Formats: sequence, structure tokens, C-alpha cells
Amino acid sequence: MMKAKPPKILRLHSPSRFAAFTSLKPSDMSIDKFEKGMVSLLRRLGVPAEKLVYARQVHGAKILAVRSPVFKNLQEADGFVANKQGYLLSIFTADCLPVVLFDAKKNCIGAVHCGWRGSYKGIAKNAVLRMKRLYGSNPRDIQVRFGPSIQKCCYEVSPELGVKFADRFGKSCVQKRDGKLFLDLERANETLLVRCGIPKKNIIKNPHCTMCRKDLFYSYRRDGKGTGRMVTSIMLKKSL
Ligand SMILES: [Zn+2]
Repeated sequence: MMKAKPPKILRLHSPSRFAAFTSLKPSDMSIDKFEKGMVSLLRRLGVPAEKLVYARQVHGAKILAVRSPVFKNLQEADGFVANKQGYLLSIFTADCLPVVLFDAKKNCIGAVHCGWRGSYKGIAKNAVLRMKRLYGSNPRDIQVRFGPSIQKCCYEVSPELGVKFADRFGKSCVQKRDGKLFLDLERANETLLVRCGIPKKNIIKNPHCTMCRKDLFYSYRRDGKGTGRMVTSIMLKKSL
């Protein structure tokens, strides 16, 4: 059997206690190919397959807490929180915004799939609330990293959707150019998280647009329904 090449990754954060990354092309991390594609990466990270955590994403606002030693994958959800070491919380995207969170004081992490639907429903806030409630996190201590997503250069939306987002998250998350509206999904989620009490300086946005960077990323809007997926993952490697 041919040995699979490890997927190329973009590191979102990599000091010793937390690892967070997004996979790059040409690795296709679509849900049916994902476990296979992850094998060599898991080996490199020293993560056993049973610690891989993922869900059937439904553009909802539900966050699952990883509690049992063996997590039941493929439940319907769009995000996770955990405070146990070694679990690789994983989100699939191809334009939607992947968000990872970590709190070094309370040793807990989160990963969230934020498309426009989930963002509008405030899913990232739900992750923060769960980290507060379950692990005692103070939002001031939570760090956030955004993975690559379709950005305001490319994310044209209908006037109706633009107005909905401007009403909920402020005018600055919608841009008007040539009579068209473009959504700034990062800005909307940043606003939501700052409203939760996370300092703006703790939120690190991503410089990459998935639609512009055809060389690095899959993009649903650019390539259509059959396109591949990136995986964005975070893991608590060790506690203090
Ligand atoms: Zn772009």
C-alpha cells in the first residue's frame, strides 16, 4: 500500500500547550475522506484515532461538550468544547469561517463552524457560554484564532442578508461596492465575541481568503458543490 503523504497545514497557533491548524490543498478533508486523510497527521501529532472529534455539520448553533473517553462522532452539531488533553476537535469548511478558542488559565478549548447561518445565530457565543459554564472560563482569558474563510473581497450577499447582518452586528460587517453588498464574516464574529467579553486583541483574524487563494484552499463559491474541504482542528496538548 502506498504511504499517504501528510497533509500540508497552515498553523493557526502552535506554542507548546495548544495546537491549531487548517489543512491545505491538495488534501481533501471532506467528511468521507477525512479519516483516511488524517491518518498520517494524527500519527505525527501522536493522536490516536479514537480521539478524533467531528460532527455532521448542519449550519446550526449547537455546541457539543466532549465528555466521555470515547466521543461519539457524527452527531449533528457545529462546534465543540473540551477540557481534556489529546482530543483533536475538528471542523470542516470550504468558505465558512472556522473559529478556534483556547483558555490557557482553565485549560479548555473550542472549535466552531461559522457559516453565515451559524454566525447569524451566534454559534461562536454559544461556545464561549459553554466554556464559561462548564470550565469556569473568564472571557478575558479566552484567545481566538480565525481560520481561512471567504472574505469581504469576494463574499457577495443579497441585500436582504446584508441588512440582516448590519442590523445584528453593525454596519461595518457589510461593505458596499459597485452597488453590491459584501459580507465581512470575520468582522461579524469578532463583534459577537467582543460582546461576549473577549478582548479584541485576543482575536487574531486570518489574512487568507479561500476564494482568492485557489492555490491553497477549496472554495464552495468558486468551485461549486463538489469541491473539497479543509479541516481546522485544535487540541489541548498538555495541561500545566
Ligand atoms: Zn477574496
